[in-house]
Amino acid sequence: MIKPKFKETIPVFFVNNEIHIGEEDGVAGIIEDPNGSIKYLISLIDGKNTIEDITEKVLLKYPNITSQEVHEAIKSLDEEKYLEDNSISPRVMGEYERERYKANLNFFSLFTSLEDSKFEIQEKIMHTNIALLGIGGLGSQILYHLAGLGFHNINALDFDTLELSNFNRQLLYSEENINELKTVLAKKRISEFNPNINLNITNKRIECSEDVMNHIKNSEYVICVADKPTLYIQDWVNEAAVKLRKPLVSGGILNTRGRFFSVIPGKTGCVECHKKTLMESDRTVNEELNNMNQVNFQRNNAAISPNVAMLAGAMVNEVLGLVTGISKPISLGKMMELNFSTYQTYSISEWERQDNCPVCHSILQH
Ligand SMILES: [Zn+2]
Repeated sequence: MIKPKFKETIPVFFVNNEIHIGEEDGVAGIIEDPNGSIKYLISLIDGKNTIEDITEKVLLKYPNITSQEVHEAIKSLDEEKYLEDNSISPRVMGEYERERYKANLNFFSLFTSLEDSKFEIQEKIMHTNIALLGIGGLGSQILYHLAGLGFHNINALDFDTLELSNFNRQLLYSEENINELKTVLAKKRISEFNPNINLNITNKRIECSEDVMNHIKNSEYVICVADKPTLYIQDWVNEAAVKLRKPLVSGGILNTRGRFFSVIPGKTGCVECHKKTLMESDRTVNEELNNMNQVNFQRNNAAISPNVAMLAGAMVNEVLGLVTGISKPISLGKMMELNFSTYQTYSISEWERQDNCPVCHSILQH
C-alpha cells in the first residue's frame, strides 16, 4: 500500500493562508488554503498514512470534500514530483548504504514519482559494471565520480606511471608515489575512499581492438579517456564497443574546450559513421576530421583541474543517464563541446547510423 510523503528535498511551509511547496525556481508551488483543509491534507501526507487513510481522515473533518478531490489533490502533488512512497524499501541496500549514498538517494528522488523507487536507481548503479580506459587527468577524476556515485564494479586500464607534472589535475595520487603505476595507486586510493568497490585493474598499453575487447567484455558500459596511441585508439575502442554492443562515452580535452560523444551500438551511429558523414558532406573535410578524431584526443597538458573536473562531471552524468534512465544523455551520436571559458555546451557535429558503415553495419546485421 502506497504511503505518500513529501520528498526530503521538498520543503513545505505555511504562510498565513497559503502553502508553499519547494523552493527551487520552477518547482515552487503556492496553494491557497482559506479553510485549512489543504494544510490538514498535507499534514497527513507523512509517510505513515495510506491514500485511503488520508482520504478517510480528510472526509471526516471536512464532509464537503469528496474522496475524488482528495485523490486528485494527491495525484497532482505526485505529478509535480513532490511525493515519494514511504512504504518502498531497498531490496539489497542496508542502513550503511542508505547513509553512505543518502545525498545520491535524495538527488535520484527528484526524478521519481509515487510508483518509482529511488533505491532501485542506486542499486542499479551498485550492480552495473563500468569499463574505464585511461586513469590520467580525466580518468582519475572520472574514477572518483564513479566511486562517489557508488559504482561498485569498475574495470580500469592504464599503463602510465605517475609523474610530478600530473599533480595539477590528477587528484587521486600522492607525491610519494611518483614513478609508480597509476593503476596500482588508483586501486589503493579507491579502496580507501570506497571500500565497497571491486576495482579490477589492468596494466596494459592498448595495441589493437582485441585488447580493448578483452578489457571491456565483462562490463556493461565503456568510458574512454585513453589518448594513446593517438592515431588509432578511437577506432579500436569504437570497433570493440560496437562488436560487443557496449554503450560508449568518450571524451578528451582540447586546450580551452572539452569534447565528448556517446555511441549506443545499433541505435546511434558509431565513430566510423561520424567520419563517413563528415566525408560525404564535404570531400575536403579530411583535415578537419583529423583534428576532431585525433588531435582532440592527443595527450595535451594544457589542462587545469577545474576544467578537467567540468568535463569529467559532464561525461559521468552522461553515463549516469545511460545506466539509470533518470536523464537522457545529450551526446548520443553528437560531438558535444564544452567551452571552459563560458561553460556553454553545444553540438559541433551530429551523425546517424550509416548503412554502409564498415564497423557497425557488418557487425550489427548478424
Ligand atoms: Zn558505424
